[in-house]
Amino acid sequence: MHAFWFVTLAFGVVASIIAFGKGRNSLGWFVAGTFIGPFALIVAFLPPIEREGMFARCPSCREVIRADAGTCRYCHTALIPA
Ligand SMILES: [Zn+2]
Repeated sequence: MHAFWFVTLAFGVVASIIAFGKGRNSLGWFVAGTFIGPFALIVAFLPPIEREGMFARCPSCREVIRADAGTCRYCHTALIPA
């Protein structure tokens, strides 16, 4: 059982180091690496195409839009950037 925890924590540490190197939330990636192990590592190695907080849902029509959009591209509701 000790080996399991060692491997689990090792994934967390490696994921957080990768995340830190890319300027991401290293604590969040440590948690992700600890809980989903190899999958977090694969995701952490991927280039940041869709960064966190880049997209949001329109409060009016619920379509996915850019977080910094001033107007919803689907329903044209005026939005206040978060
Ligand atoms: Zn909308």
